Amino acid sequence: MDPEILPSIFRNPITGVVMAINRKLLNREILLGFWKVHILHHAAAGPLVGQWMLNELREHGYHVSPGTLYPLLRRMEKTGWLRCRVDKKAGPKARREYFLTAAGREALDEVLRYLQELRGEVVESRKK
Ligand SMILES: [Zn+2]
Repeated sequence: MDPEILPSIFRNPITGVVMAINRKLLNREILLGFWKVHILHHAAAGPLVGQWMLNELREHGYHVSPGTLYPLLRRMEKTGWLRCRVDKKAGPKARREYFLTAAGREALDEVLRYLQELRGEVVESRKK
């Protein structure tokens, strides 16, 4: 399948309505994992903050809301892949900076091996 036509999958051919339920399903079942890879990748380059990451994911075409991203960052902190630095003096609205941990780097390296394998099979084989 040509990746260019992928967005039309979400459009009902009869009503022309974009089916949000499928988007949600795709986000939850598959793309959520992509976002985590993306977060680990950027955290590897330096600390990141939620708003920047939100814009970054949206620039890549993902439909992600703050209500999804912020809990995701907290969860990645709990798993030990990210470490968060907060300026405690700044109060509840303090900016939270996320850093990649050694465990996060290991997770990223491992995922990249699978990603390369997956890309070789799923993407490269379609070009032939
Ligand atoms: Zn990016």
